[in-house]
Amino acid sequence: MIKFLDLEKINNRFRDEIDSRLAGVLDRGWYLLGQENQIFTRNFAKYIGTRFCLGVANGLDALTLMIRAYDFNPGDEIIVPANTYIATILAISENGLRPVLVEPDISTLNIDPEKIEEKITPRTRAIMVVHLYGRAVQMDKIWELAKKYDLRVFEDCAQAHGAMYNGRRTGNLGDAAAFSFYPGKNLGALGDAGAITTNDENIYNKVKALANYGSDKKYHFLYRGKNSRLDEIHAAVLDVKLAYLDADNQRRRQIAQYYLDHIKNPKIVLPTMNGADEYSNVWHVFPVRTDDRDRLGAYLADNDIQTIIHYPIPPHKQPAYAEWNNCQYPITEKIHETIISLPVSPVMTHQDVQTVAEVVNAFN
Ligand SMILES: *Cc1c(COP(=O)(O)O)cnc(C)c1O
Repeated sequence: MIKFLDLEKINNRFRDEIDSRLAGVLDRGWYLLGQENQIFTRNFAKYIGTRFCLGVANGLDALTLMIRAYDFNPGDEIIVPANTYIATILAISENGLRPVLVEPDISTLNIDPEKIEEKITPRTRAIMVVHLYGRAVQMDKIWELAKKYDLRVFEDCAQAHGAMYNGRRTGNLGDAAAFSFYPGKNLGALGDAGAITTNDENIYNKVKALANYGSDKKYHFLYRGKNSRLDEIHAAVLDVKLAYLDADNQRRRQIAQYYLDHIKNPKIVLPTMNGADEYSNVWHVFPVRTDDRDRLGAYLADNDIQTIIHYPIPPHKQPAYAEWNNCQYPITEKIHETIISLPVSPVMTHQDVQTVAEVVNAFN
């Protein structure tokens, strides 16, 4: 069986290091906002290239608190890709703001920068880019629009730890960025965890307080905050794994390149590259498209190859957003009807990768 994601195998590579760091946490008897949190967030900020990083409880909290720190007014609008994972949109709604959906570009599967301007209104406050599937959004046009209309730029980096755009890491391409360390992400904890990165000290101080009951100093509450903290055990594990993130991403790129070079099947549309910029994609997943999606999934399962659909139903068709159910986003809908992710993982063997390509090629 070629698993889509073999987390046991992924994490057991670091068993000894993780064991000793967790033993340290137990020995100290200090579980929240301690030295592991400090070490990891400092190392992660350094890795991303930002001045600040705040650890929080999960990716949705990272997105929600990041937006909240900007004090937008109820009904203000944030532009977001229509084909993102629901969490990006929930974080906007949760703040009493209006998510404004913009269609993706069918070739990049990321927000189509050419379709943003027509959606900008006097209420627009920010553009939220999502580096979906591990692929960095081409930021030039986004920055240009942000400047022209005085908008903030937010990044949802939950799928793109380590991806680069013109030599800079995602997470350092806008005003603030949100990361998830959900176990299956490129950098994953042993449970839920997340982070916010920014170069803005005021925003850092504000999200820090918001994530700690709104407290700026002990027993003094500046805001009506919440409790969202990165546990010491997760910080310890993440700090161990951060040292291997670039190597893991490089292995993912090798696998993706092998698929791109070897999968040749007229029924299957492969993802494209950002020109020659291989570092712009960390291949969180390898999304292919086919009109025979459900049959391809069943066929691969029969051949002991696991796949996952990211995602079967777009946000605007979800019951949670009933007000959008009759809206039309034809590119988004086409993607959701045809997309399926092949396994890409740093613990796949070359034999696994070859087998996936061969079996996909034999699909008819
Ligand atoms: C995983 C994910 C999130 C949410 O992260 P959690 O840690 O699961 O809350 C947000 N946005 C995107 C694009 C994701 O893939």
